[in-house]
Amino acid sequence: MAQDFFIRESGKLTYGEILERLRAVSEENGFADARHAGIFRQIVAQGLTSMSDKQWSVFRQEMVPLTVERCSIASCTNPTWPGLEHCPTHQSRFGESGIKRHR
Ligand SMILES: [Zn+2]
Repeated sequence: MAQDFFIRESGKLTYGEILERLRAVSEENGFADARHAGIFRQIVAQGLTSMSDKQWSVFRQEMVPLTVERCSIASCTNPTWPGLEHCPTHQSRFGESGIKRHR
């Protein structure tokens, strides 16, 4: 199932990696959901422990899965950084700069 991919792959990241990737989402395209943008601003200003139980649940269920994307090669099962079109294997093959033009 498609959703499982994002949950499984993002589950392998540390909180440091998750925050670094959320920062990339924030800087490149912004968050599509204003709640996510608000929670991220709060984390940056006050840290993870400042979140309420409700915010934690939004963070874990909705924001953490945003930290991985699928490689755009259909047969590939590797995750990519948010905003990158190809996984490291395919990125080097295509020699691209790596930044996806978004939606
Ligand atoms: Zn790939």
